[in-house]
Amino acid sequence: MRRVLTGVAVAPGMALGRARRVQPRRYSADARPLEAAEVEAEIARLEAALAHARAEIAEVRGRLQGVLRREAEPFLDAHALLLDDPELHAGLLAMIRSGRCRAGAALIAQRDRLGALFGAMADPYLRSRREDFDQVIGRVLAALERDTSVEERRLAARVGDILVAESPTPAEVAALANHGLLGVLASSGSAYSHSAILARSLRLPMLTGVHEALDAVGDDDLVLLDGERGEAVLHPAAQDLARYRQWQRDAARDEQRRAGFAHAPSRSRDGRRIDLHANAERVAEIAAARALGADGVGLYRTEFLFLHRDALPGEDEQFEAYRELVLGMGGRSVTVRTLDIGADKADGSGLALASEPNPALGVRGLRLSLRQPAVFRTQLRAMLRAAALGPLRILLPMVTTAAELRAARAHVDACAVALRGEGHAIPDAVAMGAMIEVPAAALCARALLEIADFAAIGTNDLTQYVLAADRGNDALGELYDPLHPALLRLIAHVVAAGRRAGRPVSLCGEIAGEPAQLPLLLALGLTELSMHPARLLAVRERLAGMDIGALRALAPRLVRASDRDAVAALLPSA
Ligand code: PEP
Ligand code: MG
Repeated sequence: MRRVLTGVAVAPGMALGRARRVQPRRYSADARPLEAAEVEAEIARLEAALAHARAEIAEVRGRLQGVLRREAEPFLDAHALLLDDPELHAGLLAMIRSGRCRAGAALIAQRDRLGALFGAMADPYLRSRREDFDQVIGRVLAALERDTSVEERRLAARVGDILVAESPTPAEVAALANHGLLGVLASSGSAYSHSAILARSLRLPMLTGVHEALDAVGDDDLVLLDGERGEAVLHPAAQDLARYRQWQRDAARDEQRRAGFAHAPSRSRDGRRIDLHANAERVAEIAAARALGADGVGLYRTEFLFLHRDALPGEDEQFEAYRELVLGMGGRSVTVRTLDIGADKADGSGLALASEPNPALGVRGLRLSLRQPAVFRTQLRAMLRAAALGPLRILLPMVTTAAELRAARAHVDACAVALRGEGHAIPDAVAMGAMIEVPAAALCARALLEIADFAAIGTNDLTQYVLAADRGNDALGELYDPLHPALLRLIAHVVAAGRRAGRPVSLCGEIAGEPAQLPLLLALGLTELSMHPARLLAVRERLAGMDIGALRALAPRLVRASDRDAVAALLPSA
């Protein structure tokens, strides 16, 4: 019987395939306390299960090759690191030795304790790390309960098709992608999960939040996954298949046509130049940005260098990463953002702060950097050294006041002086910019641009702060709307401040990569956009058809619009 399941599309595209279910692993623990004589044997069981889980991750890694390996490796590394976490290990041993818990019960207790810690984090990226942690513990529990990896082998042998799971692990997605996986249907998980990021990189459509997925979909059922509409059609009917075939034809045609835009200039129909930059942080994204002819890297997030590790990355390690970026972009401008992590990241790296009641409004981004000057200066020194190799700009996240910018500038200047004293050839001036993602920063952009050399509007955060709607909270999906007229007024205000100050202003939130929003952003006066590399060609193509002069004439009416519908009514449709 045809049935439509709805969810949230976290990776676009469509796929038709047979369902391959991965049962959610639900474990019940034996709660009986251990006898003293059993303790050492239980620890041996736990160690064997941990070793088994490590070997499984290594095995998955060994099966991956080429681009898939490059894409999946960071995620597998993150799982391997969690598995080897000394705090986790010590906690498990203490529960078995002193608490007389069995290994399974200890694992579940640790999963719940640390899961609650991750779950309470305000930053959606960090919060989504809970899924990684659950998956890692699930792997150890599975190893504890079986002595061969039959399940894993069965999973790997299943080829093609659509993975249906509660919360698929990046390793599962990667392992199956090697065998022709077509798409992913998950009953839970966020757009910020590693699996979702991986699906986007591998260009696999993916839906999350399909709550009935595991109840409704049986193994081998035919499923049409629609990452455009956010639907999965179970047992699709003739009209669904016709729509799919049409999508395939359109997608093939679009791709062919867009390929012609790979190295075309980013220019509008009326001949105006707009800079289209890429948001990139991983090697594959830098390569894609270059291959697609991005005009630069407009946002390089550095958080990945700091997460999933015990010690902070040193200056040389950071320098190498920034150097790869500068050299990878072959002389095009790169904008590197200083660390933007939430306040309550208990990562054991020395940056961990006491937990805060409201971390999204707490010590994050530049606020954290200014409280950790040694960490900040290490990062700035690495950036300045890389700036000697090509055009690099420094970008500061979560700026709220001019005083913060002055303090940051003093650190940059002091680092440059020290580096020159040590014999490094640091350029005379390295541009330092402010992210505009706090409403106060948007309203006072003019004052900030007297200190900063450029501004980058971060609509992902600006939206959540202007509308008081947590960007990671599914329940507020409707309210979290970057097209709310309040946002448009702020964007127009910042653009005008930049023009008056003679300072460049870019926009690097998710909406920059939505071709449908391009007319609006151009009308508001933006001339530089930074987006996921996968969006570049579609945006450049749309740009080629835009008359910017005509769009800009709409600006006064756009900023006075009463709501989203009134905004849409003013703009040309796709
Ligand atoms: C933003 O807030 O819009 C942004 C680009 O930064 P991030 O998504 O990393 O917070
Ligand atoms: Mg942000």
